[in-house]
Amino acid sequence: MVFDYSSLPREFKRHYLPQEIKFDWDDLKRVFEELGKRPVGSSSELELWLLDEAELDAYIYEQRAIRYFNSTRQTDNPEYTKAYEEYTELLEPKIKLASFEILKKYMASPFRAQLPGPTYGLEDRRRQSAVAIFREENVALEKDDSALSQRYFRTTGAMTVTFRGQERTLQQMSRFLEEPDRGLREEAWRLSTQRALADSEPLDSIYTQMVALRDRVARNAGFDNYRDYTFVKKDRFDYSPEDCEEFHRGVEESMVPLSREIDRARAEKMGVDVLRPWDLAVDPAGRPALRPFEEIGGLVSGAGRVMSKVDGELSSYFGRMVELQLLDLDSRKGKAPGGYQEELAEARFPFIFMNATGKDDDVRTLLHESGHSFHTFLMRKAGVPFFNGGANMPSEFAEVASMSMEMITGEHYEGTFYNRDEAKRSNWREFVDNVKLFTWVATVDAFQHWVYTHPVHTRDERVRAWVSTFNRFCGLESYEGLESSRAYRWQRQLHIYEVPFYYIEYGIALTGAIGIWSRYRKDPKDAIEAYKGALSLGCARPLPELFEAAGVGWGFGPQVLRRISEELRSAIREYAE
Ligand SMILES: [Zn+2]
Repeated sequence: MVFDYSSLPREFKRHYLPQEIKFDWDDLKRVFEELGKRPVGSSSELELWLLDEAELDAYIYEQRAIRYFNSTRQTDNPEYTKAYEEYTELLEPKIKLASFEILKKYMASPFRAQLPGPTYGLEDRRRQSAVAIFREENVALEKDDSALSQRYFRTTGAMTVTFRGQERTLQQMSRFLEEPDRGLREEAWRLSTQRALADSEPLDSIYTQMVALRDRVARNAGFDNYRDYTFVKKDRFDYSPEDCEEFHRGVEESMVPLSREIDRARAEKMGVDVLRPWDLAVDPAGRPALRPFEEIGGLVSGAGRVMSKVDGELSSYFGRMVELQLLDLDSRKGKAPGGYQEELAEARFPFIFMNATGKDDDVRTLLHESGHSFHTFLMRKAGVPFFNGGANMPSEFAEVASMSMEMITGEHYEGTFYNRDEAKRSNWREFVDNVKLFTWVATVDAFQHWVYTHPVHTRDERVRAWVSTFNRFCGLESYEGLESSRAYRWQRQLHIYEVPFYYIEYGIALTGAIGIWSRYRKDPKDAIEAYKGALSLGCARPLPELFEAAGVGWGFGPQVLRRISEELRSAIREYAE
């Protein structure tokens, strides 16, 4: 599948970059040099200079994104892999060094303090952090890190099994875990797990190299460990590693007991003494899996109908994406796993990637990613500066946009994807999944805290740390006789490889998303207005202010989690009836 991104409408004209610019170092270097040499003699000149720089950033971000899309859409196309690798290996290191020179010029400007408004204030703070942690020797290490991520994707992207006479990706296999036939589920689960375990050695070795690299990056920048470095690197101005530990504690206190309650009820309903890992995705009443659509066309039209019930403006954005072919939704061999929304920063359009196979989950995923794309469209409409592809967008809030849309749209499934009972089933599962997500976020985050604060460890020690973390937050399913699958379960969580420490951001965002959903049930119009207003702010406000603008409070400690767990418990009861 080839898509010509250059044919997208260009509604934001360039004011600075040459029309004929090519994405190679010769051309980029000229632009960096001009920015570096240009005299900046007043705050308004500095502002203009920043906007020109942002135009360059957006161009680079978009070109990178296109290469990334292509390489994930076809991991088995060597040309695309090569193009992305050429970017990460040859171009990106040069761009980082040149950007740092530009950053130094900005930092030295006496007009910084005179720039207007909160946007520049926060941007200035981000730049101060960036300067404080930048080390030239880290550029090469980050390049190696990125190459290791590519290896991870190639390894996991190539994982297929032959099941019932057909070759299938592991993602395609996951739908069999929803089948009422327990024997079939077990067979499918074991087959997928064995396939993943067959590569546990190479995946382990990739991770070992990544941890060592990341630890060096942190130490080069003067930090004790990569965790503390990441908090500065990711502009986490509003919370600390200790706050994350409090989150882990809160999850352990309120969400883990709820998760185990859910499992006890599940086992009882299923009539089994002990739950096994293949028993967790199936309908506990033994009904066949929900099949919301057969073809991708059904997914797209259903999603469009659901969105139109939520809000006309938001659904028109989705229509625009369909029209411009900015969706790649089906699961194919060679396609990277997972789903994402990413921006084409110059054209200011979003792009959605996922692997749909006809499951209830796929509907949620598409509506989730659509929530991200609404963010892009609303920032586009508001003309938010420093748009550069959401590079500055904190995920703690970006995921509020997507997760709340996932829950809000669920209120309208009846009559679109499902009948009344099926809609309740789907929503029951969504809220059960939210409980499980809190526990999984705590698992993944606490594990990474351990890994990066103990950078020198053996593989056995790492497995032991994983298993004890897993057991601290897990449900009631038994891994007896399946110990190695539990020991390497983390290898299937791509964030642990690709975007270290990202996962907590889902947990923080989920607290806000549940708040918005809860408001939506009481006053839909009001909740959507606040949602759109907050999304239109882009990344120009600190996190607590973005949460406030969306009409929900900021905070994710044990007390907040206790209140949310009560809300989740009652939603789950309501949908189970
Ligand atoms: Zn997301």
